[in-house]
Amino acid sequence: MTQLGDRLRYLRVSLLNYCNLSCFYCKPATRTCRQTGTADISVLTEAIATLHGFGVRKVRFTGGEPTLHKELISLVKTTRSLSEDTYCALTTNGLLLSKLAGPLAEAGLNSVNISLDTLQPERFRQITGVNGLDRVLDGIRAGIGVIPEVKLNCVMMKGVNDDEATEMVAFADDLGVDIRFIEYMPTRGSGTRQDLYIPGHQVMSSLPYTLTPMPGRRSLAARYYRADDLNIRVGFINAVSHSFCAHCDRIRLTSDGCLYGCLFSGQKINLFELLTHGSASVRYSLKQLLDSKQYLGCPKIGKPTEDLPSFVDMGG
Ligand code: SAM
Repeated sequence: MTQLGDRLRYLRVSLLNYCNLSCFYCKPATRTCRQTGTADISVLTEAIATLHGFGVRKVRFTGGEPTLHKELISLVKTTRSLSEDTYCALTTNGLLLSKLAGPLAEAGLNSVNISLDTLQPERFRQITGVNGLDRVLDGIRAGIGVIPEVKLNCVMMKGVNDDEATEMVAFADDLGVDIRFIEYMPTRGSGTRQDLYIPGHQVMSSLPYTLTPMPGRRSLAARYYRADDLNIRVGFINAVSHSFCAHCDRIRLTSDGCLYGCLFSGQKINLFELLTHGSASVRYSLKQLLDSKQYLGCPKIGKPTEDLPSFVDMGG
């Protein structure tokens, strides 16, 4: 199969569009946590293999909450077996990770990003709707040491958790895992929350460290920094204040089989349906999708967002 070049290396797969947390900034207020959509394993495996044939070499499973998908372990195993240079990653809220970390590591998972917005139990409950901070912390500890790379992801929100940045870095440093601060992004159902937005540079300047930028690949969303008094890297994903779209090499598959070129574009193709017509049809439509990618960046905070897919569907 002819590959589609630098524009297609990284596939994010939203395995299901429901979650065991209800983070107020992620899920449209009208949505419940009830199960609505899960990708079928055989179609999904075929879809990933086909996209691998077109050049994908990094696959990240996300959701909703991907650890709720019953076939996650086997999906990791089949993905890793596609080729030696295929990297497999997971983004999870960590709630179920204490039991799954070992089996995921055995299946060949290369890395896990665990979402952690606060270290305060009551604040965790207010953000997520669930009393579960201890379980997430257990999950983080279980992942460390068995999964080769563990990172923490923290969405910083003004007046919600922006007073915890220093404590979060110290926590990550104690564990020896990198931490990334993510700018709150507009998303369907929560895009009008201008009050939540805090630019990454403000979070950075609130930290009591002299941070030095590190070199990184151009397609990376995160910019990483080091400090003399830290053993870890601190990353910033400043999607709103500094677009990193120009070198984007990612596409996103949702659990209903739609492939999107961008988190913030409605343009999509129905991959599961195209697969029934053969790989030439997939290639044709995929190329059109990539050609029409606009690399416009994340919409500015406060713009109407009702036409955007929500993060719980697309996987963030
Ligand atoms: N359930 C998994 C988890 O919690 O990591 C995977 C899906 S979740 C949609 C993926 C990431 O998107 C999480 O780190 C979450 O904090 C982030 N996210 C959700 N809504 C966001 C928003 N409005 N702005 C920035 N990041 C957001």
